[in-house]
Amino acid sequence: MAGEPEADCLFCKIVAGEVPATVVRETDTVVAFQDINPQAPCHVLVIPKAHYRDAASLATADPALAADVLRETGAVATQLKVDASGYRVVFNTGTGAGQTVFHAHAHVLGGRGLEWPPG
Ligand code: AMP
Ligand code: ZN
Repeated sequence: MAGEPEADCLFCKIVAGEVPATVVRETDTVVAFQDINPQAPCHVLVIPKAHYRDAASLATADPALAADVLRETGAVATQLKVDASGYRVVFNTGTGAGQTVFHAHAHVLGGRGLEWPPG
């Protein structure tokens, strides 16, 4: 069923505490943790605790939860002090765009110059 945990999902395992993560923020609905392979001085992943395969699926099924994720990206940026210098929120969607974990997640990247357009 939509939103239910998936047995083989890495991020569902992080939500369940079965895989360790360096959590920087947590709410009733969302968890934010350090990316294990950071691409910037600030590289945090914000995920809904419920499982959806990508950002658009999440927003379609549960717009309020998608808003929780988006709001939490801003809270992460403030907490890690990259809000003033600027930061980027990225939802890779599909393998062709680099999505490797099919549990919706926002990358919050900051703390260095960020080129536009992205690669
Ligand atoms: P994506 O490629 O957009 O699906 O993003 C998945 C992200 O998850 C990558 O940036 C990985 O470095 C990150 N990642 C993979 N395994 C872990 C883990 N165990 N803890 C934290 N981040 C992870
Ligand atoms: Zn999942």
